[in-house]
This record gives sequence, structure tokens and C-alpha cells, in this order.
Amino acid sequence: MSTEPLLLRYMTRFRCIAERCEDTCCTGLRVPVSEPQWARMRAAVAGSAEESERLHRCITPNPGGATTEHAFIEMRPDGHCPLLDTERLCSLQRRHGDAVLPDICATFPRVVTRWGERVEVSGTLACPEVARLCLLEEDAVEPVPTPLAASHVPRPETARHIPADAEDAWAFHAETVREALLRMLYRREYPLASRLAMIGHLAHGLDGFYFRGTESFRGEDREAAEARLGEVLQHFDSPDVLETVHRDFSGLALPGGPCVGLFSSVLRARMAAGRGERFSSLARSVLESLGLQEGTPGELDAAWRTYAERWRHLEALHGARVHQYFDNYAAHFVWRNPLIDAPGLLAYVFRLALRVGLLRLTLVGHPRVAELCQESSPTADSQEQLDRAAVETFQLVAKHVEQAPDFLALAEGLVGPGRGADTLGKVLIFATF
Ligand code: SF4
Repeated sequence: MSTEPLLLRYMTRFRCIAERCEDTCCTGLRVPVSEPQWARMRAAVAGSAEESERLHRCITPNPGGATTEHAFIEMRPDGHCPLLDTERLCSLQRRHGDAVLPDICATFPRVVTRWGERVEVSGTLACPEVARLCLLEEDAVEPVPTPLAASHVPRPETARHIPADAEDAWAFHAETVREALLRMLYRREYPLASRLAMIGHLAHGLDGFYFRGTESFRGEDREAAEARLGEVLQHFDSPDVLETVHRDFSGLALPGGPCVGLFSSVLRARMAAGRGERFSSLARSVLESLGLQEGTPGELDAAWRTYAERWRHLEALHGARVHQYFDNYAAHFVWRNPLIDAPGLLAYVFRLALRVGLLRLTLVGHPRVAELCQESSPTADSQEQLDRAAVETFQLVAKHVEQAPDFLALAEGLVGPGRGADTLGKVLIFATF
């Protein structure tokens, strides 16, 4: 494997748009400050009693007292950072430069991962500009070998490192397995739903012996296990196998009411957590637009019918564009999130299918999309309207839902042990949504 740094193409185009940004990097987040960073921040403001007092007011010590999370910057009740100035720019960075910022502020929205010796740079869709660049250009999620500049990796020491340790088979083979997932996801002649089913079946094929903590690759079993891994990956490279999965999966019709219930309860829970006005306003209007104001069971089937009808309409009017958002999102998910973070491959694919379902519901429930679905043919500016709605949807869900501890706990609870036919069934349910 080459050790040349890889950037996803959209990150070669990324520039922070600062005061033109519709959000701020830190809205709704809890920003950890390490002990050395806190010392740097205090030293920087020491010359001004007013600034020093303001800084101390914003910082809450971590009762656990860990060195890396020594304290937190607490957001204001409206979700914004108390250190923003009147132009919504960081006052600390303006006066004292990047060096004084906590790591998360200095590196956002970049995600840097070192696989063995090779560095990969992607981004988080929690930044609106990243979401725009990632979703709206067809070639956005291609990896591009690129010499690294300081702007790509502002604090190299904070990069996540995944060592190539042959004793840890789960991590050691992760890049090979990821390539297989991406090969299938790039088969865009099939609907994304079928491709999710394909990677679900691939994951199920590896389920018995390739997972976190597997012992199947130890000692003299290694050779046989590696051969088996290669055979399963090769099996799912076969066009006939993919066609069969697609055919079988396409015939599957599942009621969507329970999924609507689950996704709407996720949106409600995140709203209740006070996630900033942009997210709350979107979530509220999505629920209203789908007739889910009360959260009663009776609403779910009607909302499912509205959702399915709108989705069909959207595909008829803007199919290629909508598919591009979700195709780019799915490939980006696999690039950006190392699969070793899940306990097994099926649990990983489940996480992706769950997010795709939630995003579909939120996009279709977006009031601007609901209006577009009233049109009988695309108008001059309808794609632009759709793009705006998509960027807002994917960005706000990335920022306020996807990394939230309660959402992650819900995903863990739903997937259970994350192995076996039961988990594959759950992947297929979300893929059909
Ligand atoms: S969210 Fe992105 S574009 Fe907006 S200010 Fe932060 S880095 Fe810049």
C-alpha cells in the first residue's frame, strides 16, 4: 500500500468561508480543553483583566480532571460559544492566533487519520462548507494523492493513528475490507438501497470469523483465515452475485411506519437536548411537514405514505441529484469512519444504513423539499433550492445527531451484539426505507 498522503477531493477545494458561513464551527458542541492548552490560553489573555475574566467564566473544570479533557468551554443556552465576537468569529483566535486554540477548534472541520505510515485527510459534514463541497460535486469523494500542506493537517500530533499490527487482525485487514466496501458502493448502476444490501451480505459473510477481538487469525490458523477472507471478498466482486442480491432485495417490501417512528423520536430527542436554533427549527418543521406533531402511533403510517409519495416524486423530478447526495454521503461515511470503531462489520454497515434512513426522512420532510414535491416539472431554480435543503439537512444532522452520545447509544441498543442474521435483517429494513 502506498504511503503517499490521500485527500478526498473535496478537501483539496476546502477553504473556510468564515463570516459568510451560515453556522459556526462550535455551535452545540462541548469543547474539551487539555491542561497545556488551558495554560496557553491563560497566558495569552494574562495582559487583559477583562479578557482573562471572560475566559475564566467560559471554562468549566472537568471533575474527572483528565489531562486531555482538563476542562470544557460551555456553550451559551442558545448553543453558541461564549468566546464568539459580534461578527460570530472567535475572539480568542482573532486576537491571539490559531496557536492558542484548543485542538478541536484548530483542526475543525478536518479529520486526519494515519493508517500505518499513510495519512488520509477527510472532513466532517458538520461544517456547512464541507457538506456543500462533499455533496454537490460528483467527483467530491475520490481520493487524491496530495503532498500535505500545513493547512491540511494543522496539528499533526492530534491525528488518529491506526497501526498496522499483524497481531490485531481486525485492524490489520481493515483497509482491504474497506476497499471491498467502496468497490460495491461505487457500483452506481444499482440503487443505493441494493448496494447497502450487498455490503450487508458481504459483512454477514465475514461475520463468523472477522470481527473485533477475533482469534481466528492466530498462529497456524492465520493462513486459512486470510484465505477465507480473500474468498469472501472475491465472491462479492462477482457481477452475478451482486445481481442476485439486487434482484432478491428489490422484491422486498417492508412497512416503513416503525422506521418513521424511530427517526422522528430521534429528531424529537435531539430537539429536547437544546441543540441550537437552526437544528431545532429544521427538526420541528420536518415533523410538522410529515404530520408528526403529536408523536402518536396513529400518525406513523400516514407519515410513511406521505414520505414514500414524496420520495417517488423527488426521484422523478431530481433523481440524479438526490442519488448523488446519498451516494457521496455513503462513500464518505466509509472513508471518514474507520470500520474498526464498530465491534464488527455488520454493526458498521448497520450504522451507515441507519444514518441513510434518518437523512432520507429529514430531507423529504424539509419544508423546501415538500414544496418542490408540489411541482409537476423541475423549474429554473428548483435544483438550487434542493441543494440548499440537502446541505442544511446533512450538515445539521451530522452536527447535532450523528455524534450525539444518546444517538450512538440508541444505535448500539438497536444493533445489540451486532452480529448474525438478525443484524443483517435490520440492515435490510433501513436499506428499504
Ligand atoms: S463551520 Fe466550516 S466554513 Fe463555517 S466557520 Fe467553521 S470551518 Fe469555516
